[in-house]
Amino acid sequence: MTAVVRTREELRAALAAAPRPVGLVPTMGWLHDGHRALIGRARADSATTVVSIFVNPRQFTVASDYTRYPRDEGRDLAVCADEGVDLVFAPGVDEVFPAGFDTTVDVGAVARPLEGAARPGHFAGVATVVAILFGLVAAERAYFGQKDAQQVMVIRQMARDLAIGTRVVACPTVREPDGLALSSRNVHLSPAERAAAPVLHRALEAARTRWEGGERSAEALRRAMRAVLAAEPLAEVEYVSVADGATLAELDRVEGPALASLAVRFGSTRLIDNQPLG
Ligand code: AMP
Repeated sequence: MTAVVRTREELRAALAAAPRPVGLVPTMGWLHDGHRALIGRARADSATTVVSIFVNPRQFTVASDYTRYPRDEGRDLAVCADEGVDLVFAPGVDEVFPAGFDTTVDVGAVARPLEGAARPGHFAGVATVVAILFGLVAAERAYFGQKDAQQVMVIRQMARDLAIGTRVVACPTVREPDGLALSSRNVHLSPAERAAAPVLHRALEAARTRWEGGERSAEALRRAMRAVLAAEPLAEVEYVSVADGATLAELDRVEGPALASLAVRFGSTRLIDNQPLG
């Protein structure tokens, strides 16, 4: 039986009696197989699995992106029940950010490039809401997708710096058969854009293939990604990056673990994806 709670108080009461360890999967809903994979991993590790469903207004940098973000709570609750989730926390905005709320968690260097540069304020919104969720749930572990690789790094930094005991577990990106990473935003793609969108994965594969073949010039790898993207007229490239795997600083040479990543627009829909190198 999946219990649904909506207030901090109900959540605390439900957790007081819950068997440990607790695994938390934070989501913004519109659950897909990527979320299901996180839930499955949490269930395997935990005696109690908690899923939060909250479209966090503070992490959107464009108002229309927030208002048109897909929502279907009935469907999401059915997915959670199907996956054997014990507890769903589905609060309203005022429950998470009550009147008088006035704190922002602002993570430093790792939050600045890439998504941080493209979406100013985004990671402050993410880190703030995740800090609240970590405080409320006090889970042993929390599960995040490698699909949002920089987000995982930002949350790890936040949890370490704020001495939060929840361990951050990163799970592999789940993809469609044609390589497109599952994302709630894929629902906004027109049929032509959906057909074009696997170009992100093909570009990352081009970088990976060259890296596996011994290419160590980061610019050559970025060029290889741009060349694949340039062949897709619907793809408007926002950034293409080959960055240090620990700091996300752009690289000249790929000597250690690195992250190839990109952000591409198709009409008004913005997609991101990444591929670790090493
Ligand atoms: P969201 O609901 O989009 O905020 O995502 C909630 C969690 O699911 C985040 O940790 C995401 O990184 C993760 N996630 C989203 N898409 C995928 C995917 N295709 N594969 C694995 N994890 C994902």
